[in-house]
Amino acid sequence: MPKFRAKQILDWRNKGITTPSLMRNLPLDLQEKLHAEMVCEPLTLVRKMSSNDGTRKYLFALTRRPYVGKMVEAVFIPDERRGTVCISSQMGCVLDCPFCHTGTQKFEGNINSSEIIAQVLAIKHDLLNDPLPSALSLHGEVSHIVYMGMGEPLANEHSVYQSLEILLSEEGLNLSRRRVTLSTSGLVPQIDRLGLQSPINLAISLHSANDILRDTLVPINRKYPLQDLRQCLNRYPLPQQRHITLEYVMLAGVNDRQEDLEALVKFTNPARERINLIQFNPYPGSPYQGTPSEQLHRFAKRLIKKGIRATLRRSRGQDIMAACGQLKAATDPTMILAR
Ligand code: SF4
Repeated sequence: MPKFRAKQILDWRNKGITTPSLMRNLPLDLQEKLHAEMVCEPLTLVRKMSSNDGTRKYLFALTRRPYVGKMVEAVFIPDERRGTVCISSQMGCVLDCPFCHTGTQKFEGNINSSEIIAQVLAIKHDLLNDPLPSALSLHGEVSHIVYMGMGEPLANEHSVYQSLEILLSEEGLNLSRRRVTLSTSGLVPQIDRLGLQSPINLAISLHSANDILRDTLVPINRKYPLQDLRQCLNRYPLPQQRHITLEYVMLAGVNDRQEDLEALVKFTNPARERINLIQFNPYPGSPYQGTPSEQLHRFAKRLIKKGIRATLRRSRGQDIMAACGQLKAATDPTMILAR
């Protein structure tokens, strides 16, 4: 085939169209050949849920042996200016953060780069077929990607780097590094490698700036305590006017006290970091409650008074179980029995 055919096929793929018969500028015989020979469906959509606020949650099943039928989730979160896809990098997670629903589920393996990219493409395709209602006045296209779904992306480095190459390259989805964020629980050597190889936006699941409490909330802290994490964040390459996000899920009576605030102020480097306070999205059987909204606002104001940029992340898609791991649990018969 002439080279330009490859470009045409990639252009369709990058739009989220992977069915050859829909690739209208290809000759019929090529469409048929692709249909017979090309495998471009590493995931099957099992379930889709749409929230009143425009958030959409997708549950996909893998089609690769020996993982056929194992499930991962992805979420589309639109706001007025951007459409963010939150993707999964593993089936479950081994890191066992006790407030996280994915952490309570069995770890079933890493997913590969095709399965990571397929989440984005399937959501692009869905948005073409079923656009957001215009009454919502939200950004209805994929503009940003966050590795913040199920799993610890830096525990699956090989697939994550391969997927980043596709997201960032010209022949791929051609996204700017500024539009791609990876969220990690704090694997220090891996963060260093990310900074050297592909310095995209970085978010850290901090959740406490006190080693004793963080050892419980984010158990990887026992291996890479706050002091190591602090030095690692100081080294991470940051383009001008960019910052690292410290994520802090607010748990009532656990990490929202005055002493927690003081530790957080002490840990944060305001020149390089900002804090994203997250309203806890409770799930059935969760041992934690979310901090009440008023208190959460007070916490944010106190941080701002101390010269730290703090934002509140609205809890999105609560009516569709949009917190990480919830849809899979509600769909997986073993998890339903367990409840
Ligand atoms: S918060 Fe992230 S690292 Fe911790 S258990 Fe959940 S998915 Fe794993």
